[in-house]
Amino acid sequence: MTNRIYNFNPGPAALPLEVLQQIQEEFLDFGASGMSIVEVSHRSKWFDDVINDAVDRTKRLLGLDQRYHVVFCQGGASMQFCMVPMNFLSNGRKADYVNTGTWSTKAINEARIQGKDIRVAASSEDRNFSYIPADIEFDSQAAYVHITSNNTIKGTQWAEFPETGGVPLVADMSSDIFSRIIDVEKFGLIYAGAQKNIGPAGVCLVIVRRDMLDLIPEDLPTMLKYSTYVNKNSMFNTPPCFAIYTVQLVLKWLEEKIGGLGKMEAINRSKAELLYGLLDSSEFYRPTADQDSRSLMNVTFRLPTEELEQAFVAEALENGLGGLKGHRSVGGCRASIYNATSHKAVEVLVDFMRTFEKKHG
Ligand SMILES: *Cc1c(COP(=O)(O)O)cnc(C)c1O
Repeated sequence: MTNRIYNFNPGPAALPLEVLQQIQEEFLDFGASGMSIVEVSHRSKWFDDVINDAVDRTKRLLGLDQRYHVVFCQGGASMQFCMVPMNFLSNGRKADYVNTGTWSTKAINEARIQGKDIRVAASSEDRNFSYIPADIEFDSQAAYVHITSNNTIKGTQWAEFPETGGVPLVADMSSDIFSRIIDVEKFGLIYAGAQKNIGPAGVCLVIVRRDMLDLIPEDLPTMLKYSTYVNKNSMFNTPPCFAIYTVQLVLKWLEEKIGGLGKMEAINRSKAELLYGLLDSSEFYRPTADQDSRSLMNVTFRLPTEELEQAFVAEALENGLGGLKGHRSVGGCRASIYNATSHKAVEVLVDFMRTFEKKHG
């Protein structure tokens, strides 16, 4: 335990220490079952309690009304890139996509592979995805508008969700789900790979509004239909039990230890302000995202040279600060400061950055 580092990994990422400790404590004997959570049946009361609690906590935390279903899929967020158009764009229906980076581009590609009628309504590719497009005109006939709420690699985030004139939003929230209060009314579907903000890899949380289910064609494979997951409480087949259990514990931590999304958002804003404050006051570090598009979760920045960036990442690790290298596709540095990365961790990072600048600046 004493050698745990301050973890700024982009994903899989830091989880709350309390959660890891609880997993460790009850790993051999879960809920007095005499078995580990990885040994009990997914058709047992032990696992039923776990998955139902995870669903209930998701509904409470996000304020979802009874129109919304919460399910757990496998295949990561990447599987959702294909399932969304497959389920909602049959019978000549079309959709609008906003391209704000690597993950949006992949979502667009997966719809195109299937020959679906989609349109890129706006893109920020002209300036290397360093901003979130504004004043977008959407097609009022679209079945949905797809956005990536937080762009993990480019370090941008929608501060306000776009006005779509009543067309439901479908959002990839993999890297900012449960990080702030959102107006869920606007969303027909939300998906999030767990390994950024809510758990280990292997499960993807999906929130789908009842009316969207009417769009699903009959002739899809069973495992690729949202209705299968809704009708079977995510247990048509064996679900990723351990991952769902960990998500349940993280949501419990968020509700009971942190005190809900309002509190979490305040902490996240304070962390981000501290870090961006340093970047803005320095000539040495250069933030890469436009000010009004900055992510509260992934803070991307450059140093004067690539050599200094390499030295920065290496020296940080020597000082117990891990995961600060930028994504291989963009270079530079990135501090991912998800829910489980503490305020203290960001304070230590900022101190380290000041010292590094004095030494090398
Ligand atoms: C990490 C990430 C993905 C990819 O998730 P997988 O679970 O690996 O498929 C997709 N979208 C966003 C926004 C991400 O951050």
